[in-house]
Amino acid sequence: MEKQIAVIRGDGIGPEIVEQALRVLDAVAEKFGHTFRYVDADMGGIAIDRWGEALPAAELEKCLASDSVLLGAVGGPKWDGMPGNKRPEKGLLALRSAMGLYSNNRPAKLWPQLAAASPLKPEIVEKGIDFIVVRELIGGVYFGEHRTEEADGELKATDVMSYSEHEIERIGRIAFETAGKRRKKVTSIDKANVLDTSRLWRRVMHRLASEYPDIEYSDMLVDNAAMQIAKDPSQFDVIVTENMFGDILSDEASMITGSIGMIPSSSLGEDSRGLYEPIHGSAPDIAGQDRANPIGTILSAAMMLKYSFDMDEEAEAIEKAVNQVLDEGLRTGDMMAEGSTPVSCSGMGDAVLKYI
Ligand code: NAD
Repeated sequence: MEKQIAVIRGDGIGPEIVEQALRVLDAVAEKFGHTFRYVDADMGGIAIDRWGEALPAAELEKCLASDSVLLGAVGGPKWDGMPGNKRPEKGLLALRSAMGLYSNNRPAKLWPQLAAASPLKPEIVEKGIDFIVVRELIGGVYFGEHRTEEADGELKATDVMSYSEHEIERIGRIAFETAGKRRKKVTSIDKANVLDTSRLWRRVMHRLASEYPDIEYSDMLVDNAAMQIAKDPSQFDVIVTENMFGDILSDEASMITGSIGMIPSSSLGEDSRGLYEPIHGSAPDIAGQDRANPIGTILSAAMMLKYSFDMDEEAEAIEKAVNQVLDEGLRTGDMMAEGSTPVSCSGMGDAVLKYI
């Protein structure tokens, strides 16, 4: 297969971690007989410095003309004082919106070799943590009307939360399709005992569940879900939920795995194209020192192969290689523990390559 990938290296540690992911993609291409063509695109602080805006039209065009986008991270103290429309994050929001990405998917996977990094008790961790949070990204209360007004001598603030059937259905489909590629279980999370948006959410999800008879489906209230993620995360495979609940639960889910540098993510929309990036930021404190953990970006590339290019075996080869490197005891600074061997960012890339 031949695929074009837009590559946004971004700011801070972005270029270092993306470089390692590209080396791994090249090795996969060679092993499985594919061709990956990379097109560099500027976004974030570097684009502001070079072109005066966070996502110039020509750079966006490169992303839209590609089969998927791989991103390192954007932002840093240099651009913190910029006005809102000149901030690196603006580029990310503009890219998501231009690509029509309405689904953010974040795996919460605890690598057994890093179990000690989890804040959960060993008896909980032992049962395994391996689920994915599918979060609706462009609807709900974050995108409803926001207003603050004076009423009866005091201020009153209102945020409107609304969802229509098609918005729920399209995110639901991503969850069911994702579960089909995993352990075939979907838990839909809502607050249907209180909210109308949640009652509609549940109706649409039930309708979809009948279309996917091979997927085990259940509903869960969001307050209970927050407790269950901490109490017994092994019960989950795919969680699907609306924007605000997903924002909160996906952070809880990454926290229980304990290592921010290891977690990939994807954002998907109507077609197979996606935006793939690690969940961490540009880590300016260690930028340019060859110390960053590139695994979150390498696993983001693996997600791209699996979810956008239907290359399951290739994605698995990357995950297996990461597993072997961890077995070998190699660790970047962020996940160092007694008895393990420290490696640099590029050293970690070398080690993963060895097992592809
Ligand atoms: P951060 O995730 O960049 O860093 C938090 C801490 O984790 C730092 O100590 C950092 O060194 C460490 N860390 C993060 N990733 C690591 C990795 N791969 N390997 C080793 N250590 C790692 O969060 P922050 O410091 O709050 O934000 C820094 C900048 O990144 C800000 O400008 C912020 O706006 C931006 N940011 C960008 C994105 C994105 O591009 N999607 C996401 C979050 C934050």
